[in-house]
Formats: sequence, structure tokens, C-alpha cells
Amino acid sequence: MKKKESLAINISICICLILSGIFLFNRCNNVPQINTNNLVSMILPEKKYGFEKDSFHFETHKLNSNQTLGDLLLYEGIAWDSILKLDKISNEKYSIRRFRARKPFTLVKKDSCSAPCCLVYEPNKLTYIKYQLDDEITVNIIKKNFEVCEEQASGEIESSLWMAMKGSGLGYEIIDKMEDALASSVDFYHAQKGDQFKLIFERKYVDGKPVEFGEILAAAYKNEMGEQYSVYYENENYEGFYDLLGQPTKKTFLRAPLKYSRISSKFNPRRFHPIKKRTIPHLGTDYAAPIGTPIYSVADGIVETVGYSKNNGKYVKIRHDDIYKTQYLHMHRFSTGIKKGARVKQGQQIGEVGKTGLATGPHVCFRFWKHGRQVNHLRENFPPKDPLPESEMEEFFRQRDILLNRLAEVPYPDEKRKKGLIAER
Ligand SMILES: [Zn+2]
Repeated sequence: MKKKESLAINISICICLILSGIFLFNRCNNVPQINTNNLVSMILPEKKYGFEKDSFHFETHKLNSNQTLGDLLLYEGIAWDSILKLDKISNEKYSIRRFRARKPFTLVKKDSCSAPCCLVYEPNKLTYIKYQLDDEITVNIIKKNFEVCEEQASGEIESSLWMAMKGSGLGYEIIDKMEDALASSVDFYHAQKGDQFKLIFERKYVDGKPVEFGEILAAAYKNEMGEQYSVYYENENYEGFYDLLGQPTKKTFLRAPLKYSRISSKFNPRRFHPIKKRTIPHLGTDYAAPIGTPIYSVADGIVETVGYSKNNGKYVKIRHDDIYKTQYLHMHRFSTGIKKGARVKQGQQIGEVGKTGLATGPHVCFRFWKHGRQVNHLRENFPPKDPLPESEMEEFFRQRDILLNRLAEVPYPDEKRKKGLIAER
């Protein structure tokens, strides 16, 4: 019953983009500089997680569905009371219970036959956690060194089929950021085949491998209506995307509290409830996504409630101003620091998708309150954000022009075709 409507929504939020851009690397920060005057050659032992690669043995493991980490460590020769201690101590920094099923972790051993001296888990590509298992049990969260490179891309909309987007590689994340950056000037719901864009963005590298996209610094989008620009501006007081005249280009509220999700149940005052089997108004919008998917605050605000109830499960309510509040239900986990009175920014993660409370499957029930009444947020016209004040304009224009000059060096796909750099369509 829900299939048809969810497909329609997917198509409208996701635009298939075949990126014909060749990524030209330039301007890498944090590249180590070598002073050649006093160069002393020295070979340092290669290390992994701080252990010398030649002196230690590294084993990668994944848990079976019927196996716990405790079982595995016991099998590997760690005493049961040490495992209990690890469980307790890890809770303060990064609990071993937070390990994701099917995500590998590493056991470090002094030799292949000995019990592990250390357990290492990488929750994301920029961080690893060391659980020291010998002598005293300790837990350390370590941020990897990364390099930020500025990159550029240009692309063209080939079709509007969501399915086709899966293959585009660069796809989702950066396109999502571009949509955010240009939200107020480009209608992405009606993107057409042949629309073109170009971007300057940051990307983080660890050991020469790309791990994460950073901010978009500048974006241009060209369609029948002409060309639209968005540039990133940041100083002590301001941070965000602005058009060429310093008007904010992001909307006051994000369209959805999740990325790449699908609407599984719309706002509907006369809905037939699937569990209770009777007509109960659905005063929210449900977004289906796997357990653990990040949930973001749709706007700046202050956390009003972090709670649990039988129907809502774990939920967060945020007050944005005197008019608007939002609420996020059935969460699996709250993010650290999300408690009553905490300030949150638009796009800040507040928790993870779950199915706590009355829920048939993992999803967020997103509720939007206006003057104390629940409304369909997809039908609201929100007020624009404040423009930059007069006192900022001189500095804004200076930064804007630097970015525009760099953007001018990036050709659109049709310009590349004209120069014979890429094949005709
Ligand atoms: Zn709901």
C-alpha cells in the first residue's frame, strides 16, 4: 500500500547525477614540509595503531550472529573477570557493546599464539579505539591524522531515476551537500536532464586514501532559469552558505531529519493504524531507515525533552523559536551531549534511528509543531534566514570573489565538450 507513494517521494528527492567531472586535486593543506638543509636519513619502523608492524601480529575478526565479543575474547585467552572489567571500563569512553555487527575489529598479539594484548575498533574512518587488555585495562579514543584537500567537480543531470544514482560513486553525500547549499535558489524537485553544476569542496584523506567529504566551498548550478551560485562564508560570528549578494541560501528547516531515507508513512489526520487496527490520526511523517542511521536536528534550537514513553519510545523534542518545535520518535540511541537545555545546530546529529516504543520497523516518526499544533512540515512555507549585516559585506565580497575566481576555472560538462575534453552526449 505504501510502495507507490514512497517511490514518488524517492524520485523527487534524489536526482540521478552522472558525474562527468574529473577531480583535479589542488591546494592540499597540512602536507608535511621537509627541510632539505638538515636532512638526516632515518628509517622509522612502520606502525599500525601505534604498534610496530614487525613486532606484533594483527588479526581481523567479525562476530558471528550467535557469538558475543565476550565469547570470542574468552576463546582467545582473556580471563572472564578481565572481560567484565573491560565491559565496565569501556562504558565511560566507548562501550564495547556499541560495536556494530559485521563491522570488523582487530586483535593485536605479541605473537600469533599468545592472548591478545589489545583490541582495536574503528567506529569510522577518522577514529580508532584502543582497548588495552594486558596489565591494566584502558580505553583510548584516537583521532587519525588527516589531510584536507580542496577538490573540484562538475556534472550533469542525466535522468531523474533514483535507482540509477546508486552507481555514481561520488553520488549521495556530496550531492546532498550541494542540495543543501543551493536549497533556496534551485528547485531540485524539478531538476531537468541537461542541468549542469560545478563545485569546489574539501575532502579528508588518511594515508593518501579519501575518507570523508568536508564542506562545499562554492557551488554553481546552471539550468533554463540561468545560473545560481552559493558560496561558503565563515568567520567568528557567521558561518554558512550565501548567494552573491550575501543572502543565506540554506533554508531555516531541513526537508527531513535523515539523509537518503524514504517516507514510509505521510502526515495523515485519518490514518488506519497498522498495529492498533483502527483509525488514529498520524500527525507526523515517518522516514524508514536502518537502525543506527544518524538523525539530524532540522534547525538550530534548544533541546526541550529527551525522554521515553510507551508509544514514542526514546524521543527528543527541540524548541526552535517561539513558533516552531520538532520531535523525533522511536530512536535507538541519543547522541552524546543531547540533554535538556542543550543547544543544537541545524544538521547536528542528535541520535540514531531505532524502533523503540510502538513501531513495526526501524524508522523516525518526525513531528512538527507550529504554535503548539502538529502540522505537515512539507506544506509549510518557512521564513528566510537573516541576511549578513552591512558590516560583514566588505569581507564577504572579498572571500566571495576568491571563490568565484576559482570556480570560474572549473568548466561545466558542456564547456568540456566544446573543447573536446569529453565525448559528445
Ligand atoms: Zn509516525
